[in-house]
Amino acid sequence: MSTQKNITVVGAGLVGSLVSIYLAKRGYKVDIYERRPDMRKADIIAGRSINLALSDRGWRGLEGVGIADEIRKIAIPMYGRSIHLKDGTSAYQQYGKDNHAIYSVSRGGINMRLMDMAEQQPNVSIHFEERCDKVDRKNNEMAFHNTNTKNDTKVKSDYVFGSDGAFSAVRAQMQLNSDRFDYQQYYIDCGYKELVIPAGPKGEHLIEKNCLHIWPRGSFMMIALPNMDGSFTCTLFFQMEGQVSFDVLKTEADVLNFFKTEFADAVPLMPTLVNDWFANPTSSLVTVKCKPWVFDDRIALIGDAAHAIVPFYGQGMNCGFEDCVVLNELMDKHGDLNAACLHEYETLRKPDGDAIADLAIANFVEMRDKTADKTFLLQKKIEARFNEKHPEKWIPLYSMVTYSPHIRYSEALISGNKQQAIMNKIMARADIESKWDSEEVENAILNLL
Ligand SMILES: Cc1cc2nc3c(=O)[nH]c(=O)nc-3n(C[C@H](O)[C@H](O)[C@H](O)COP(=O)(O)OP(=O)(O)OC[C@H]3O[C@@H](n4cnc5c(N)ncnc54)[C@H](O)[C@@H]3O)c2cc1C
Repeated sequence: MSTQKNITVVGAGLVGSLVSIYLAKRGYKVDIYERRPDMRKADIIAGRSINLALSDRGWRGLEGVGIADEIRKIAIPMYGRSIHLKDGTSAYQQYGKDNHAIYSVSRGGINMRLMDMAEQQPNVSIHFEERCDKVDRKNNEMAFHNTNTKNDTKVKSDYVFGSDGAFSAVRAQMQLNSDRFDYQQYYIDCGYKELVIPAGPKGEHLIEKNCLHIWPRGSFMMIALPNMDGSFTCTLFFQMEGQVSFDVLKTEADVLNFFKTEFADAVPLMPTLVNDWFANPTSSLVTVKCKPWVFDDRIALIGDAAHAIVPFYGQGMNCGFEDCVVLNELMDKHGDLNAACLHEYETLRKPDGDAIADLAIANFVEMRDKTADKTFLLQKKIEARFNEKHPEKWIPLYSMVTYSPHIRYSEALISGNKQQAIMNKIMARADIESKWDSEEVENAILNLL
C-alpha cells in the first residue's frame, strides 16, 4: 500500500467513480475532475430517466469494493424478455435457468450512489465543472477549465486515468500527440430516442415489471426497462435516415401513425408520446476501438474512453466495471500501480474490449430481427436443451457474456462462433422441426463438437 501516489481521474461517470473507489481503497490519493456540475444537486437530476442493464460482470466490479448491496437497493431484476409482436400478442423468453436475471438500474441513480461512495473514501475528492482540455505529456501536466468560474488549472500527478467516456478528451489528446495511435470509429445507421411508459395511478408498473420488453420490427425495435417509480424507460432504436426513419417522422401525426401501426399495444400506455418525441433528443450510436490504451507508463484509458460499444448486449458499463476488476487484480499481482501493471492491463483488456464491441453489433441484428423469428427461436430451444444435458460442453453465448464473468469476452466470442457454425449445420437438417429434441440431434451436435 502506498499513500504517496497521487492519481488524477478524468470523468466522474460510472467507471471513473468506481475505479476511484478501487484506487482509494489501496491508499492512493485520488482527485476526480468532472466536466459537468454535480448531478446530485436536485435541480440537475430532474428530467429524463435513463436506465441500464447491470449483469454479473458489473456486479463483480461492485462486489470487489463491497458496494453491491447498496446498488441492489435500486436494481430491478429482469428474468427474461417479453417479445411484443406486431399483431398485439406477446411471448416470454426466460433468460436462463437458476433464476438468472439482469438488473435494471437508473443511470443517474447508480452514478450518484457511486459518487457518494467515492467521496466517502477519505482520500477521494471530486472537482465538478472542471473540463479536461489538454494533456501536456512532456511536462506531465493536465489542464482543466472551470466552466463556472472560467478559471484554468494545471494539475500534476503520478498517474492519470481517462474515464471521460466515448468522446474522451484524454484519448483525443493522446491521438493528437502520439505516433502510431490506432483509432477506429464506426457509427451504425441507427440512432435512438428515449420515451416513457409512466406508472399507473397507484405507482404500479403497467406491463410486466420483471422483464425486458422488446418490440422487434426487423430493421428497428423498441425496448422498455422498468424503473423503481413504476414507470418504464422505452428506447426506440431506429434508422437515422431513409424511407422509414427518424428523418421522415416530422409531424405529430407522422409519429402517432407510425406508433399506432408498429407498436399498437404500447400506444395507450404512452400518453406523453408525442411530447416526449419532440422534447427528447435523437442520439447516435458509436463504436470506438483504439490502441494503445496506456501512454508514458502512467496515463491509461478505461471504460468507454478505451472501448465505446453499441448498447445491444447491455455490456458497456459492465465491461467498464470489469476493467476495474482486472486492474485491481493486476495491482495485487504487481504489488502496486506501476508501468508493468498498466501494460498488462492493456494486453489483457484490449482483446476483450474489441470482442464485446463486435458481439454488441451482432446482438443488434439478433434483437431487432431474430427474436421473433421461428428458426432462431427453435435454435435457441435446441441449444438450451443441449446445455441442460451437457452443461460442461455448451454454454450459450448470451450466458457466457452475461452470466459468466470468469469467461473472457474474447473467449466467449470464439466459442460463440464455433457454436454458430455447428448450429448452422444442425438447423440445415430437413427434419429439424420434428426431431429438434431427439437423441439423434443431440448426438449430431456431440459429433460436431
Ligand atoms: C442508449 C444506451 C444504452 C445503454 N445501455 C447499457 C446497458 O444496458 N448496460 C450497460 O452495461 N451499458 C449500457 N450502455 C453503455 C454505458 O452507458 C456506458 O458504457 C457507460 O456509461 C460507460 O461509463 P464511463 O464512465 O466509461 O463513461 P460515461 O458514463 O460516459 O462517463 C464519462 C464522464 O466523463 C465526463 N467527461 C467527459 N469529457 C470530459 C472532460 N473533457 N473533462 C472532464 N470530464 C469529462 C462526462 O461528463 C461523464 O460524467 C448504454 C449506452 C447507451 C448510449
